[in-house]
Amino acid sequence: MQSKLIDLHGRTIDYFRISITDLCNFRCIYCRPAEGVPLVSHSDILRYEEILRIAKVAKNLGMRKVRITGGEPLVRRGVLDFISRLVSETGLEDVALTTNGSKLQDMALSLRKAGLKRVNISLDTLRRDCFRSITGADELYRVLKGIEASLDVGFDPIKINVVLLKGINERDVPDFARLTIDKPVDVRFIERMPFGAEIPPPNSPDSFSAKDTLKIIESAFGKLNPVERSKLDGPATMFKLDGALGQIGVIDPVSGHFCGKCNRMRLTAKGFLRPCLLNPLEIDVRTFLRTSPDDSQMESFLEAAVLMKPASRFSNIEKIDVGMNTIGG
Ligand code: SAM
Ligand code: SF4
Repeated sequence: MQSKLIDLHGRTIDYFRISITDLCNFRCIYCRPAEGVPLVSHSDILRYEEILRIAKVAKNLGMRKVRITGGEPLVRRGVLDFISRLVSETGLEDVALTTNGSKLQDMALSLRKAGLKRVNISLDTLRRDCFRSITGADELYRVLKGIEASLDVGFDPIKINVVLLKGINERDVPDFARLTIDKPVDVRFIERMPFGAEIPPPNSPDSFSAKDTLKIIESAFGKLNPVERSKLDGPATMFKLDGALGQIGVIDPVSGHFCGKCNRMRLTAKGFLRPCLLNPLEIDVRTFLRTSPDDSQMESFLEAAVLMKPASRFSNIEKIDVGMNTIGG
């Protein structure tokens, strides 16, 4: 089927990142504003039924992949049933989840049974103290158990996302790279994006670059072997250490430019479509959902939103005054 979701710059938009909550059990220093997040009334958050309706309409227009995110998606009540319905009722090719991993030890098996095939886990350090100072939670052990549980139930691929934090986790880079040797996990290092809503340096650090990360790995392990891109890699450039089971990737939203290939649209937990992560434009789909029961009108709404996708990101992302927990990472 020819996709109907093609923007004014010729990009086919087939990847929908849906935030189901802006609540989170962690307080990562680079994600949540210093003063905390304003409480959102329950009625302002999209109901699962409403998200399913948008996802079905989007799928009929050509959306192929949905990633569930947040806040922390696994803290929202009813998430297992929701994912099961998302998989079985929409017919989407690919449903994925991004999580901080803290609940996976208990939920991995149920998520697998609900039909989820793959998972991204965010983890920035393998040291307990450092983990606590980044997230505000003493839960490194639980996250590591969550990764084990994900391997046990057969999620494939399992991607571990590491945000690069200058002066904080450079020394974890070789240990993360080593993880890929004997575990079938892909570790992806991501430059930290300096959204304006967060705690300014020095309490919330700058990024170090994807390039420097590769240098750290090569000086510890020798030359990295480039891996041909697969369609699951998104904007990551992938490598492999000799004989490793998993891969290593770098994503450079700060130093690199991948707007020209962007295939994404976001839906915030409050029901706003965000055509570009790094642009403050948001379109209120919640009011539309709650006033128009007509799915053909919803189709036109989504098509119009895709046409509003900017050609490239806002040049001054420090001015974007919300964090990823609100936008949906
Ligand atoms: N709570 C879940 C988690 O942590 O995986 C899902 C939501 S979180 C907002 C999604 C991803 O965004 C995480 O991998 C997190 O590390 C990343 N993230 C948050 N703020 C970021 C920033 N300023 N720069 C780069 N990545 C960021
Ligand atoms: Fe929560 Fe994820 Fe943001 Fe950390 S990165 S505060 S776990 S939403």
